[in-house]
Amino acid sequence: VGDVESDQVVKDGPKFKDIGGIQGILDELINDILFPLCHPELPMYLGVKPLSGILLHGPPGCGKTKLAHAIANEAGIPFYKISATENIRDLFSKANKTSPSIIFIDEIDAIASKRENLQREMEKRIVTQLLTCMDESYEVPGTTDADSGSTTSGKKPGYVLVIGATNRPDAVDPALRRPGRFDREIALGVPDENARTEILSVLSRNLRLEMGCNFDLAKIAKATPGFVGADLSALVNKAGNLAMKRIVDSRKPDNEATDGDWWRQPWEAKDMEGL
Ligand code: ATP
Repeated sequence: VGDVESDQVVKDGPKFKDIGGIQGILDELINDILFPLCHPELPMYLGVKPLSGILLHGPPGCGKTKLAHAIANEAGIPFYKISATENIRDLFSKANKTSPSIIFIDEIDAIASKRENLQREMEKRIVTQLLTCMDESYEVPGTTDADSGSTTSGKKPGYVLVIGATNRPDAVDPALRRPGRFDREIALGVPDENARTEILSVLSRNLRLEMGCNFDLAKIAKATPGFVGADLSALVNKAGNLAMKRIVDSRKPDNEATDGDWWRQPWEAKDMEGL
C-alpha cells in the first residue's frame, strides 16, 4: 500500500511538441489513442471497443515514459503510474473514478513476464489480475441508444487506457499481447540522423543559442550516431553547463582569496556578449 503514485493532469508537463522524431507515429497516436481518450463515447457510438492497452517498446532512454506522459497531457486526463505490484485492483478502481484516464506501467516485463518464468504464486496472480482489469477497462453504462449514440443512463463510458513500457517486449507474457489487451505495439527505436536533429531542436528550444555561436544541429546529429533522446538531453545539458562555466570564469577575480564572495555580485546580460 502506498506504492502507487498518481499524478493528476500536469499543466506544464510534456506534450507531443516536446518529443522529437515522432512525426511518423503522430497520426496513429491522434487517430487511435488521443481521439478516443478525448471522446470515449465515440467508440461506443460506432459500436467498437477502443484500445485497452498499448505497449511502448524500445531501448532505454528513447522516450517511452515521456511519450506516455505526453499522451495524458495532450488528452488533459489523469495519469497514474504503477510502481509496485500489489495494488492493481485499487489502482484501476481509482482510475475508473476519474475516467477517462491512463495507467502507466513502466518495465512491464518485470511485473508481467511470461508466466512459465514466474516463480511465485503472487506474481502469477498479478498477471491474472491485470488481465481481468484490462478486460473491464472500457465500460458502457446502461444500454446504448443507437440513434443518439448516448447511453440510456446518460453517462459517458468509463475508459482506462493502460500504457506499458518495456525494453524487452519478448519477455512480456503473451496473454497480455493478445487482442483486447496490449493490442497495439509502438516501437520507439534508436533515432536516425533526421530524428536526432528533430530531438536536438526540441531539446534546445529554450536554450539561449544566439550568443555568438552558429549552431548547426544537423551537424551535431551527424556526429552522434547511436545516441538516444536521453543521451542527447545529457549532451544539451552539458553544453548549457559549459556556457555557465564560461560566464563564471569570465567573472572570476584575479585573486579569489581576497575578493571574498565575488559570485554573489549581480550579473547583466550585456557582460556575456562575445563570451
Ligand atoms: P527507460 O526505458 O530507461 O525508462 P525511456 O524510454 O522511458 O527510458 P524517457 O525516460 O522517456 O526514456 O526519456 C529519458 C530522457 O530523455 C527524458 O529526459 C526525455 O526528456 C529525453 N528524451 C528521450 N527521448 C526523447 C525524444 N524523442 N525527444 C525529446 N526528449 C527525449
